[in-house]
Amino acid sequence: MKEQILYTVAIDKNGKLIKAKDAEKGDSYSCPICKDEVILRKSGNTGKGSKRPHFAHHALTPNCTPETALHYAFKNLLASKVEQHLESKKALPISWLCEYCFSNHSGDLLKKIKSVKIEHNLIACKPDIALLGNDGNVHAVIEVVVTHKPEESALKYYQANNIVLIQINVTSDKDIDDLENKISNPDIVRACFNPKCEDCGNHKHKVQMTIVDGFCWKCGAAMKAAIIEDGQDRDVEFTNEEIQFAKSKDAIIQLHYSQTVHRKYLANSCTSCDAFVGNHYLDEQFLEPAMRGEYEFETYDISYYCNYCLNSGEGYTKEFDEEHPQRLAIARVKIWKPRADERVSIITDDSTGAQ
Ligand SMILES: [Zn+2]
Ligand SMILES: [Zn+2]
Ligand SMILES: [Zn+2]
Ligand SMILES: [Zn+2]
Repeated sequence: MKEQILYTVAIDKNGKLIKAKDAEKGDSYSCPICKDEVILRKSGNTGKGSKRPHFAHHALTPNCTPETALHYAFKNLLASKVEQHLESKKALPISWLCEYCFSNHSGDLLKKIKSVKIEHNLIACKPDIALLGNDGNVHAVIEVVVTHKPEESALKYYQANNIVLIQINVTSDKDIDDLENKISNPDIVRACFNPKCEDCGNHKHKVQMTIVDGFCWKCGAAMKAAIIEDGQDRDVEFTNEEIQFAKSKDAIIQLHYSQTVHRKYLANSCTSCDAFVGNHYLDEQFLEPAMRGEYEFETYDISYYCNYCLNSGEGYTKEFDEEHPQRLAIARVKIWKPRADERVSIITDDSTGAQ
């Protein structure tokens, strides 16, 4: 059952927003929405059935709901938090799974931000929180959603003006005690750092290569293996650049003949005994132990490709197919966490090749 939303904030006699758990009995408080007097309810009991500290109205006022008060509180407390971070020049980390390129992005939300405004009037819309850069332009907006999603016209405006939309869904009055986590892991972020495809205009996908420090399954010699992870499957062999890159990291990719599929294909090779590593062993003897922390590994961003164009292209298949046995060398798992070197500003600019 969905928990009831309570009025957990009020305005104190100094005009400041205060949480019920920090409020004192006997003081006077008013509702931030309807301005009516509210009474602090704080029993001190924490057992079953006892409500958490909250404020109560003497009488219900039309247009004043706990949801409206929660939206008001979250928005104002979050804006203050952002302001504190700006004043102390403290980073505000943010990360999200990108809806454009399907990989994780992370960065400092405030990298290029100089000021924050609540209900900043953009004429076309009034975002809950606007983040402005040095140039005085709005770079990003934070929309706090309790019951009302941003209007379609607002979304269009943000998109047309290169304003990054960050949406935080607030479902409980307890979320106001979890501000940092809510802003660091927002529900929606409309931004991608990857360059756009020249052909279709969509964001391209990152090709990553992971080099695992393992051992040859046949002779037991130390051996490095290169594994391509590209967000979605793709239908290409290791490119020459990828083979060269792998080689520079001491992973040797060579043509081998497979008895199973009766075809030559590119695979990781042992330099001691010439054995090669097929899909099964690549997963089982390199990738999986690396992910369990048993082997050292390093992941590199090596290039981009466009999954949208591949998807619409002929012959594209998501499953392994025997026509393209080179894909034995491609691991089809998506397990990478965002890394420190991926820390980029959320506010994109053209000079970095981003949106
Ligand atoms: Zn009220
Ligand atoms: Zn992206
Ligand atoms: Zn070997
Ligand atoms: Zn494309």
